[in-house]
Amino acid sequence: MSKKILIVEDNPQNMRLVEMALSAESYFLLEATNGEEALEIAKQERPDLIIMDVQLPQMSGLEVTRKLREIPEFNRTPIIAVTAYAMKGDEEKALDAGCSAYLSKPIRARELPNLIAKMLLQRQEEDKGYEGT
Ligand code: MN
Repeated sequence: MSKKILIVEDNPQNMRLVEMALSAESYFLLEATNGEEALEIAKQERPDLIIMDVQLPQMSGLEVTRKLREIPEFNRTPIIAVTAYAMKGDEEKALDAGCSAYLSKPIRARELPNLIAKMLLQRQEEDKGYEGT
C-alpha cells in the first residue's frame, strides 16, 4: 500500500514544487493550505509522514506540529519542517516544537524524496523493534 504524505503549504507555487519533487515516487499525496485544515486532514487520513511549511497564515507550522504531538496517534509520525527564511536557531525551534527534521528552501532536487524515504524506513524499523519486544 502506498504511503500517505500530507503536504502543508500555503503557497501554491511551493506546493507545486513539492508535488513535482515527489512525482516520481508512489506516495499518495494529501494537501492542506493552513493549520486548521492540516489538523483536520491529519485526523481523518492519518498520514504516514507530514511535510510542514513553518510560515503559514494564522497558526504557524510549529504550532500545528505541537498540536499534532499532543494527539497520541501522531506521537511518532515523521514531520519535516520546511522554511523559506532560514535563520539561526530555526532548526532548533522546529525540533523543540516536535518536528523530526528540518529543511530550508529552496529544496534541492533529491533532498526531499531522500529524506522522506529515510524517515519512513526509520519509522518502519522502529515499529518492528516495538513488535519484537
Ligand atoms: Mn508559507
